[in-house]
Amino acid sequence: MKLTKVSTLLVATTLAGVSFLQTSQASAEEMRYEYTMGGKATTAEALDAFNRGRQLLRVNNNSDAAAMLKKAVELMPDNADAHHTYAIALAKTGQSSAAIQELQTALSLNSNSAPSWMTIGGLYQSTGQIDKAIESYRGFLSRFPTDRDAKKIAGLVAGLEGERLKLQAIYGQSGKPPADVHDYFTEVTRDGVIRWNAQQMPLRVFITNGDGTPGYREQFGDILKQSFSSWSQASKGLVTFNLVDTADQAQIVCLWSSDPAKFKNIAESGHAVLDTTRNGLVKGTITILTVPLVEQLPLTDNRMRRGCLHEIGHVLGLAGHTSNPDDAMFYSMDIDDKWKDLTERDSNTIVRLYAKPPATSSLR
Ligand SMILES: [Zn+2]
Repeated sequence: MKLTKVSTLLVATTLAGVSFLQTSQASAEEMRYEYTMGGKATTAEALDAFNRGRQLLRVNNNSDAAAMLKKAVELMPDNADAHHTYAIALAKTGQSSAAIQELQTALSLNSNSAPSWMTIGGLYQSTGQIDKAIESYRGFLSRFPTDRDAKKIAGLVAGLEGERLKLQAIYGQSGKPPADVHDYFTEVTRDGVIRWNAQQMPLRVFITNGDGTPGYREQFGDILKQSFSSWSQASKGLVTFNLVDTADQAQIVCLWSSDPAKFKNIAESGHAVLDTTRNGLVKGTITILTVPLVEQLPLTDNRMRRGCLHEIGHVLGLAGHTSNPDDAMFYSMDIDDKWKDLTERDSNTIVRLYAKPPATSSLR
């Protein structure tokens, strides 16, 4: 009989809550604003830019939204909502530092905005600034303890604190790796080195049919398959895969779920479980969420791609997380909506894991 040790990973592929103004509230404010500013030639133009910008954001046309909201901010520099909304457009087009600045301005104009506290926390989180993320989320929780997102934010704080402790255990107080390190092997194998054996290649992968799972789109399956190929290439052929037709035949089983409540932490967008024996990995199960955790960040193909790469990384033995936002194994999902290719660091890490002589050590 073979003893199987089950390891449920902490998967803090957390996606921060980014909220917009309530539409009704916003229109009331727009009206009020118009009265306040009545008579000024810029008002109608400013409001028009603001509303058009928000509309463009709603349909995920983020670069046009950013241009329009930049104009709105210039026309009404004292309006916190304009700065907040512009920040979201900047974040979604990958301009995180500018977005953080805009949110700081929004909070200096209105420190009682739950969405701004939550969003700035999300931006710190997605750019790897763990301390500031925790501080902002705590600021949110102390001001808005009964907010409907409070439970989710508390989950994020717990996840981030766990990540911070693990990174500090490796790198000391800063939790940051030295600049001359070109892989993240140490970070992701901190709980012990686990991997599949070379004799097991190609690994047999079964992908369940997602039809019928709410939110599932046909291309998700293709993105998942493509992501397996990407890891295989990044490993320079040390890891290979074969698709099989049933779960019984498979070593890696991929499932779809529309219910984040089933995950260990409700702020997760995916989940991986690894079964190991003394000899290494024997089974991996990936569950990928088919619905967005926050409706303002639609589950685009780009975000699905990131989630797939991340969870596959886990079942290949990259069990831990990193603090570098460019890594596939970064602890947080990006706000930025861009296609992710595996990097040199990703490739160096998987090659280093599989080029090592067979390890007998399993999970500690
Ligand atoms: Zn993870």
